[in-house]
Amino acid sequence: MGRIEDLQVGVLALQGDVREHLLALARCGAQALPVKYEEQIRACQALVIPGGESTTIGKLVSRYGLAELLREFAAAGKPIFGTCAGSILLAKEIEGNEQFRLGLMDIVVERNAYGRQVESFEDELNIPSLGEEPFRGVFIRAPQIRSLGEGVEPLAYCRERVVLCRQGRLLVSTFHPELTTDLRLHQYFLILVQASHSSTDVRKHGNHKRAGYQSVR
Ligand code: GLN
Repeated sequence: MGRIEDLQVGVLALQGDVREHLLALARCGAQALPVKYEEQIRACQALVIPGGESTTIGKLVSRYGLAELLREFAAAGKPIFGTCAGSILLAKEIEGNEQFRLGLMDIVVERNAYGRQVESFEDELNIPSLGEEPFRGVFIRAPQIRSLGEGVEPLAYCRERVVLCRQGRLLVSTFHPELTTDLRLHQYFLILVQASHSSTDVRKHGNHKRAGYQSVR
């Protein structure tokens, strides 16, 4: 498995809380970069789609012609972590809403499902994959995940709703881990990236004994 310091992780920098994700990823030791141009995105091994306004981010993704690129990115096995608005952009379906989405993850979400801004809240989350210590979940005009397809694994619940789940190399949370100082969820994502990166390398270069495998860096 490659080293975390060698991973280039992009944070889609069209709108939203880009800076907080960059800081969290950098604190975990990864090379974190704000990305919005094709070459920048292609150069990354993984991507974070931040919280913000899913309508705005979606409009900019289509206006800049990034939708196919991002779908190819996921199809190439590169991990994507969507937080809050990012989870809406990754969803296959948005209840009662035709707004733009990448439609990569087999989940149905409902926007602003807890109500307006004043209904934003924080809660202690039990996330077994991150250990026993509870994780502070910050929910800001958060969506709710209404249903999950078969290949989607729920990783945490809050108020009887799934708030963190994973489908292969796609991870989404309806809360904002980047707004806490707890790095465990970003670390969890980076481990996923490390694993995907090594297996992508092996796929690309074949069996190293036969094909003279060399690490890409
Ligand atoms: N309410 C926003 C939306 O629908 C998401 C809010 C957030 O990302 N904190 O896009």
